[in-house]
Amino acid sequence: MSDGMQTIQWFPGHMTKTRRKIAENLKLIDIVAEIVDARIPQSSRNPDIDALVLNKPRIIILNKSDIADPQKNRIWLDYYKKQGITAILVDCKSGKGVNLFVPTVKSILKDQLERASHKGLNKSVRVMIVGIPNVGKSSFINRLSGGKKAKVEDRPGVTMGNQWFSISKDVELLDTPGILWPKFDDMLVAEKLAFTGAIKDNVLDVEQLAARLLTCLAADYAKNLVKRYKLENSCVVGKSGLEVLEVIAKKRGMLLSGGKVDTERAAIMVLDEFRAAKLGRITLD
Ligand code: GDP
Repeated sequence: MSDGMQTIQWFPGHMTKTRRKIAENLKLIDIVAEIVDARIPQSSRNPDIDALVLNKPRIIILNKSDIADPQKNRIWLDYYKKQGITAILVDCKSGKGVNLFVPTVKSILKDQLERASHKGLNKSVRVMIVGIPNVGKSSFINRLSGGKKAKVEDRPGVTMGNQWFSISKDVELLDTPGILWPKFDDMLVAEKLAFTGAIKDNVLDVEQLAARLLTCLAADYAKNLVKRYKLENSCVVGKSGLEVLEVIAKKRGMLLSGGKVDTERAAIMVLDEFRAAKLGRITLD
């Protein structure tokens, strides 16, 4: 990762405003639905969320579970369960798991709903969606609304008018998600966000990024690389990311004039293929 990585204006001025708005909205809602990317469930969380959400009930939505490692999906569900947080696996691409949302929210709020019902109150449950950019907040909201609602614009702090819409008889959603910013001061976290495309490539050294990704994959998902690029095991296991990148470039005939391998082209391809899950279902946290 280049040194420039940490100095880019990752924390736009409106972040404070967004956080204030999320804090204000907390008073209006019963539960916070925090969406994370199942491929990087830890790195795609804003660590400040705990302080922000305080005692509000919470549900974690592990989205993009279709392209995350199925075994690790289960491990992460267990991990949250042990912490007393209910999490569900969702795939907004196909809609799988989205139907778990309303019943799970109701079961988390069971006591509260029972108390209200004893008092003769037929209260709607109000939900706020929060998450860092690119985890699938808009996709999830569109899925919940059955596509009837227009796409929520991804402009933090701009469209925070309080509009509610029903997603079931007695559950309402705040129309605009709370957009949090990820934590970039940990380089490993920043890298993982970049691998998944949550940080735009044009601010990064693409070859270095792909090499770092390949280093991670060679350690945990060597088989996936061997299969996708038809490599020998010995070209992956124990090799540096840059060495693997060169082998892939060669294998794909990506050559520059003079016979040098075009590692930049290979880097762009590897990152694209990882993001499109062509390397298989992979979880990096
Ligand atoms: P937001 O920035 O949090 O609102 O994220 P978006 O809803 O705009 O989604 C970001 C990208 O992830 C888009 O390209 C979506 O198509 C994709 N995406 C969202 N949910 C899923 C999912 O469950 N599976 C897969 N494979 N892709 C998803």
